[in-house]
Amino acid sequence: MRSLTKFFQSIRFRITLVFVLLMIIALELLGAFFVRQIEQRNLATFQQQITLPKYATDQITTALRNKQTDEANHQIQDVLSGLNNTNLQEVQVIDRTGTIRGTLSVSGQQTIGQKTTDLNAQKALSGNQSFLKTRTINESGERKELMTTQLGVSSGRVREVTGIIVVKASLLPVYRNISNVMRLFIIAGLIALVASIALALFLARTLTRPIEQINEQTTKIASGDYSMVNHIYSPDELGHLAKSVNELSTRIEESTETVNAERNRLDSVLTHMADGVLAANRRGEVTIINQAAADFVGIEREAALGQNVIDLLRLQGKRTLRDMLENLDDFRVDLSNDGTELLVQAYISLIKRQSGFISGLVVVLHNITEQQRIDSERRMFVSNVSHELRTPLTSVRSYVDALAEGAIEDPEMAQNFLGVVQDETQRMIRMINDLLELSRLDQGTMEVKQEVINLNSLFNFVLNRFDMIIESDAKNTETPNKTYNIKREFTNEDVWVEVDPDKFTQVLDNIMNNAVKYSPDGGTITARLIKTKTRAILSISDQGLGIPRKDLDNIFNRFFRVDKSRSRAQGGTGLGLAISKEVVEKFNGRIWVDSVENQGSTFYISLAYVDDANIEGDDWDVE
Ligand code: ADP
Repeated sequence: MRSLTKFFQSIRFRITLVFVLLMIIALELLGAFFVRQIEQRNLATFQQQITLPKYATDQITTALRNKQTDEANHQIQDVLSGLNNTNLQEVQVIDRTGTIRGTLSVSGQQTIGQKTTDLNAQKALSGNQSFLKTRTINESGERKELMTTQLGVSSGRVREVTGIIVVKASLLPVYRNISNVMRLFIIAGLIALVASIALALFLARTLTRPIEQINEQTTKIASGDYSMVNHIYSPDELGHLAKSVNELSTRIEESTETVNAERNRLDSVLTHMADGVLAANRRGEVTIINQAAADFVGIEREAALGQNVIDLLRLQGKRTLRDMLENLDDFRVDLSNDGTELLVQAYISLIKRQSGFISGLVVVLHNITEQQRIDSERRMFVSNVSHELRTPLTSVRSYVDALAEGAIEDPEMAQNFLGVVQDETQRMIRMINDLLELSRLDQGTMEVKQEVINLNSLFNFVLNRFDMIIESDAKNTETPNKTYNIKREFTNEDVWVEVDPDKFTQVLDNIMNNAVKYSPDGGTITARLIKTKTRAILSISDQGLGIPRKDLDNIFNRFFRVDKSRSRAQGGTGLGLAISKEVVEKFNGRIWVDSVENQGSTFYISLAYVDDANIEGDDWDVE
């Protein structure tokens, strides 16, 4: 049904309809004219055919002048009988008195001698010429031609009629003839009509086919399919149109490709940018947001679209959209969430049309949390360094002042004071050396000589040194030191690791020193070395004070000490573990601590080990 409605609305139908209507009008006009012409011709011919020949009218005229009525009637009857014309139905000869003097038909013979009752005949006898030719149609639809011929001589204006001959003939053959012609004409017309419909449909199709194809092509172009090429290159207007549409399709495809490529490039730039980028329209609604920006504000990209940029950046009460559009200075935004600190610097730029109309703005968000942290750490570090150096320096100054003020005179006191100055200076030198080492580690300028070494041997070497110290302390009975013993729990397998032996020894020394420092008198220090599937893990446990749980995370921070005064009293700088961590991480290792307060601490170091199969040469040389 819909396709039928579609057909009736189509150009093809309309062209066909116009064509067919024109055809019908032409056929109608032609038919009417043609039939009329044929009718007139046929009627004229028919009239000629039923007109009595001149000799007959002359003889009848002569007979009518004959006073001998019977003889004249015979003469008339002879003339009529001699007429050999099948078209004639009836011929009546009437004299000027209106008496019927002769008839052609057999049935009309008894009317001879009677007066005519026919009005037309009477009028004709009185010289009236109006109804000489009349046509009648009887109930059965038969047309008849009635032709009256006035006989007589005209004298002046008045025509003296001697008699009339009334000829009656059926027009049936004429109209049969005409209807035959008409039937033929109608059949021919119908054939022509059908042919013209077919032709019109064909013609309309040749016209609409290219239009349909162009239509199909443009619909495809609109939906982004540029593959269709129109091959109708007829040299007419439609051919030109098809060519233009083909060109248009190519142009659109090219420009779409360019736009897409640009968009993809922009998309990939935006996606892979570490900085967050978001664009908003004049109303502040977000229209573009990249993943980094979405991560910063903690929302899905799709969910962020359409949201207000002020709400998204949590700027309510701090900044309005107008402020952002009018003042392009960058500003800091705190996007911290659930305890995760996040500080970003927002840079604003406007999206302007060529006309200068501002259609929106772009906000670039740069994560400055790390920078902030580094800055604050640096500030803290400087403050720590100043503080750490101030204490020994103040102490040195006060002892030097005391010496200057006279203490130098007392040799014992002077000796004592100088000892303190020496210790403090020593500590400052140690601290500065540690700081220099950390700085070298930070800058990556520290010289590291990585070698594959046997960790069992290296660890043993370090522990042996501490054993020696214990031994020498035991001999030194004058100033007894804290006593402790070292227990070894080593794997039987050799563990090969790739480290700088000097630096790694320094790390182990530092942890061992701490263990000794914070161990109780007579405590045991356990040194372990094990091998897991992928890593070598060494640990040093003591039975000392332990480290409070809250401080475990900070223990490797620079200058961190659990108990500042005690550490300082023991000559610590608070940098040893920070250096150890940096060094271990340089060898892709990990260092961590496990501790229970008042029970002891265990420091662990894990390193990737080298497979025995890859080892060539001798063990690490302990010398
Ligand atoms: P310090 O020179 O002060 O020892 P470290 O960086 O070596 O500096 O150690 C930092 C802090 O960690 C120490 O001040 C101490 O409070 C704590 N610490 C380190 N090792 C131990 C340990 N084995 N037992 C208890 N506390 C320790």
